[in-house]
Amino acid sequence: MFDRIIGAPFDRSFTPGSRRCGILHAGTQGQPCEIPWIRIDGRADGRSLVVTAGVHGAEYPGIEALVRLSGTLDPTSFTGTVVLVPIANLSAFEGRSAFVTPVDGRNLNRSFPGSPDGSYTERLAHSLSEEFVSPADAYVDLHSGDLVEALHPFVSYCMTGHTDVDTMSRSLAHCFGIETIIPFASKGREGLSHVAAALGGTPSLLAEIGGQGVWREHEVAVFLAGISNVLRTTGMSDDTLPVPPPRDEYSGLDWYTSAATGLWRPQISAGEIVVKGQTIGTVSDYFGDTVKLVAADHGGMCIFVLTALSVRKDDAIAGIALP
Ligand SMILES: [Zn+2]
Repeated sequence: MFDRIIGAPFDRSFTPGSRRCGILHAGTQGQPCEIPWIRIDGRADGRSLVVTAGVHGAEYPGIEALVRLSGTLDPTSFTGTVVLVPIANLSAFEGRSAFVTPVDGRNLNRSFPGSPDGSYTERLAHSLSEEFVSPADAYVDLHSGDLVEALHPFVSYCMTGHTDVDTMSRSLAHCFGIETIIPFASKGREGLSHVAAALGGTPSLLAEIGGQGVWREHEVAVFLAGISNVLRTTGMSDDTLPVPPPRDEYSGLDWYTSAATGLWRPQISAGEIVVKGQTIGTVSDYFGDTVKLVAADHGGMCIFVLTALSVRKDDAIAGIALP
């Protein structure tokens, strides 16, 4: 059985072959904020890997993958420490909330590295950054399209300008096993978990598969295989299975947001190749009059698209990866 611990995983000393689970109470003013974690120590001391899911609480494949892995990862199969956080944003998971934390309406994955004196979500981000990501040698964050998003699987890492961190982040992204790889510049994306991690010196990646409020076995399997590949690439695991070869990278990502609140009707699908000038979709008002026709600024591949009919001003409506 697991020991039950209150506190942070890295407050504990290394114990070979141990599997410990605990809850960190993030400091929030009068509002309970618990972060459940599982720490598994390998056969000998070494590097540490932290994997989170549920930063967006309704993105389920990563949550299912980590809950499963917490009971099945064999401590004799690796060295060092693996910390799993299956549901980083418990209130969003329990509330089945898309994009934001119900308590304060903020997007946790725009709030890193957070603040100890900020809103609920900023405090949660701060605790995740300080107690989980900063002490780790590598960090993986698992996402999917949200409740109302269709998504083509992709991996992202952040270019910080620090060669050691960037080289490792790139290696992790390329080994993960998802073909579409999109490096993010840090500018303007500082609030994302993997960007903030890399800026803080922890090599990191973001992996995305599935969406629309469901989880499928093959998506869970891709995440579990990806974590295995990361363990090999960090040198924590010495099994001899081959790591996927390097992939071609996209050069960036055009991120489209809605200019108005109203009805959104997409005209592209996730995974579709889009040409410059092609109509991505239309936004109309509540009387059916088109108020905005959204066209592609550049050609590329659609990696996510909003599937809800309802759209609010500034909502993300589509992302197109640029060759
Ligand atoms: Zn997400």
